[in-house]
Amino acid sequence: MCAGVHAAVDMAMRHTDAYCLHGIVHNELVIKELESRGCRFVEDIEDVPDGATVIFSAHGVAPGVRARAEEKHLEIVDATCPFVAKSHRAVRDFCVRGIPVVVIGDPEHAEVKGLLGEITDRRAPVKGERIGVVCQTTMNADEVRERVRELQRDYVVDGVVEVCNATKERQDAVRAFDGDALLVLGSRNSNNTRKLCEIAKCRVFAAGNMEEVLKLRGEISRYEKIGVTSGASTPEEFFKGAVACLKRTPRHVAFIMDGNGRWAAKRGKKRGFGHIAGAKTLMRVVRWCGERGIQYVTVYAFSTENWRRPADEVAGLMRLFAAMLKSQAASLVKEKVRLRVIGRRGDLPEKLRRGIEDLERRTAGFDRQLVVCFSYGGRAEIVDAVNRAIEIGEKVTEASFGRLLYAPDIPDPDLVVRTSGERRISNFLLWESAYAEYHFTDVLWPDFSEGDLDAALADYASRNRRIGGVK
Ligand code: SF4
Repeated sequence: MCAGVHAAVDMAMRHTDAYCLHGIVHNELVIKELESRGCRFVEDIEDVPDGATVIFSAHGVAPGVRARAEEKHLEIVDATCPFVAKSHRAVRDFCVRGIPVVVIGDPEHAEVKGLLGEITDRRAPVKGERIGVVCQTTMNADEVRERVRELQRDYVVDGVVEVCNATKERQDAVRAFDGDALLVLGSRNSNNTRKLCEIAKCRVFAAGNMEEVLKLRGEISRYEKIGVTSGASTPEEFFKGAVACLKRTPRHVAFIMDGNGRWAAKRGKKRGFGHIAGAKTLMRVVRWCGERGIQYVTVYAFSTENWRRPADEVAGLMRLFAAMLKSQAASLVKEKVRLRVIGRRGDLPEKLRRGIEDLERRTAGFDRQLVVCFSYGGRAEIVDAVNRAIEIGEKVTEASFGRLLYAPDIPDPDLVVRTSGERRISNFLLWESAYAEYHFTDVLWPDFSEGDLDAALADYASRNRRIGGVK
């Protein structure tokens, strides 16, 4: 994000009870986030109730709008970008000096409407007359220079206010890029994003959200040298997520979350304390994986062997899982993550089963998935699949056998991460992980950090995955 957008979004975040006049910036992700926090968006100052708080967007407003806001006794939060404010001052200055102003830009854009509102004398300039030129801050800089050259043929151009630095720097970078394909991130209603698409000399892909990036990933990855750029109002997390998604990112990462007990023991606490910390780490890992474009996360939460643990620890784990379902339901829905629980469900307490089914139903429509292996064992899964094959009287092939497993629609894991220094697979995804890469780390699961995840992904990216072929 450019500094102007950053400042505007910060202001809106601090006034979530306010009415934003027009989109605070041209980015759907930002608007959705603000709406979810309570901000309301209106297109007309008359739609703001008298005495309420109004936020003027980064694009600025015409003086008439400001005057009307004052008449309505609105509390004004002015998020006009300093570059736009500079253009307004230039227009006023030309007007004071009696110099006609030419505004270059899209007449329907809020910024241009604001600038036109500053012009006190709308007469057309006559040939040879002195004029002032002010352009919309997000225009194509080359196009603006061309228009100014044209104007100079008929008029004496007294001064020009060009595009803002953030726009110019992005456009210069795109012009200089000599790769094969460019991914431009930003909303379609963002002028500066559209201009970046126009300026690029290579194949251009545009995406406004992660779902679109995920859809384009396959096509883009056919190109050797790929550039990524964004409009000035594109959130940083989206940018980072898209870049990570394009690098060699696994689609599916599975975790053996080991070390909760040792982590607690180191602190002189009971094992349950470690399990609670581990559950919090899990939710962070799910978020980080989402930011990196990883579509499936599978975790080994409770194995068929874990039933042999002391009864109070088993009961504690059942309670913790039930509590987690409750406490994390909202964040799974907010982050659009689908929950799947696989394993021998019949062994679980009835109430827990109902809680699982309820959350699975509520999240069923989402693409990103969190698969929790609970009362799960790799051998048990294979045995269950064999019994199902016998029940239906089917002689299986590798492909048809795969369809009898607990979650046949989920692609096999590309990477399995095990924490706490153990180097075993412990009966985890025995069939599915036949071709997975393994990453082992000494870090105990509750301490597993974003940096540890990136280290695992970098390790994965460094492997030569031939999967039986030759590359
Ligand atoms: S793109 Fe330029 S004018 Fe618009 S908010 Fe950013 S810095 Fe300001």
